[in-house]
Amino acid sequence: MKNWLIQLRAGRLIVATVTFSVLLAETIVIAFSLWLHGEIRPDYLITGFITTVIVSFIVVVIIQSIVRALQRTDEQLLERTLYLDSILQSTGDTLIIALDTAFRVKYLNTMAEQVLDISARKAHGHRITELVDGVRREHFEQAMRAVKPGRGYSFQFSYDFDEATHYFEATLTEILHHGQLAGFLLVAHDATDRKLLEETLRDLSYQDGLTGIANRRRFDEKLEQEWRRAVRENQPISLIMVDIDFFKNYNDLYGHPAGDDCLKKIAHVLSETIARPGDIAARYGGEEFAAILPNTALLGAEKLAEQIRAHVEGLELPHANSAVSPWVTVSVGLATRVPTNGDDYTLLLEGADRALYKAKQQGRNRLVIDHH
Ligand code: GH3
Ligand code: MG
Ligand code: MG
Repeated sequence: MKNWLIQLRAGRLIVATVTFSVLLAETIVIAFSLWLHGEIRPDYLITGFITTVIVSFIVVVIIQSIVRALQRTDEQLLERTLYLDSILQSTGDTLIIALDTAFRVKYLNTMAEQVLDISARKAHGHRITELVDGVRREHFEQAMRAVKPGRGYSFQFSYDFDEATHYFEATLTEILHHGQLAGFLLVAHDATDRKLLEETLRDLSYQDGLTGIANRRRFDEKLEQEWRRAVRENQPISLIMVDIDFFKNYNDLYGHPAGDDCLKKIAHVLSETIARPGDIAARYGGEEFAAILPNTALLGAEKLAEQIRAHVEGLELPHANSAVSPWVTVSVGLATRVPTNGDDYTLLLEGADRALYKAKQQGRNRLVIDHH
């Protein structure tokens, strides 16, 4: 309430109290005077009036100071509540949601209002699961089942807003009040930047620095993974190995930087040719490349392998130091398997490697298929 209003009310209260006390005291004095002397004595009236005014003023002043003290406590409490609320609202991109013991919303900060797209007033009293949908609801329900006394439960969820997907890392914990469970606190912070950074770092760790295509680590992981899938689904899987012919001589003649450029161009041919989703072209080693073709039988793989060889030759990159062509060429080995349980993916690697070795032996700039 406004201060001047309180003051006005307090002033009126003083006047009323004093008036009432004086009237009451004068009535008593009149009655006392009549009873004692049989008449109304004016000195009684004056003394009674003065005493009552003084006493009631003292009483009113005491009451007023008590009221003021209570008002101050009230203001301090209000100020403290507003301050705490400001803290909860000043958490940047962190959501804060307080729930009661039945997971009904008691408090949402502004960020939570924005993300859940509901005002705190409207959300109040609703179970939190009513305010989220789809897979998020499952995450929240799982968290509600899993939260244990003294141990928060951490989980993740995402929301689309500001034309982007935002990833939140959340923790649900119990709120204890006087040692009793009073509800739950959900704190979630926007971890989108970190997640994107992690993804970039992971992508980089899978990328060959020079050519930008997949590196050996990615190749190894993918081969193992696709081999297991081929076993499960009883599908063929093909592996193409590519090695540049006389590349040492190329470096010797044109220099290492030119050699690097050549590697980039050949990597480009591979990634352009191996374009089906699920396929992957990788730099296997120095001047060796490999392509994994899941669900691809020999005939299809053979076409692609030959395309790679022909495209490289078609680039017509001068290679005056090659014994087989005026241009940069590659030798290609191909192996295809329909793996069964117990087979190891090294079978495929060894097969493609064997074929590549034969391609080198048989004169280079050719494709050899491993007939196991
Ligand atoms: P072959 O026809 O039998 O394959 O002969 P080659 O000279 O291509 O094979 P060898 O294995 O003897 O030499 C490979 C060369 O590849 C050696 C090295 O200088 C070159 N090389 C490997 N990695 C890189 C690289 O990152 N950049 C450059 N410029 N050259 C590389
Ligand atoms: Mg080599
Ligand atoms: Mg070579």
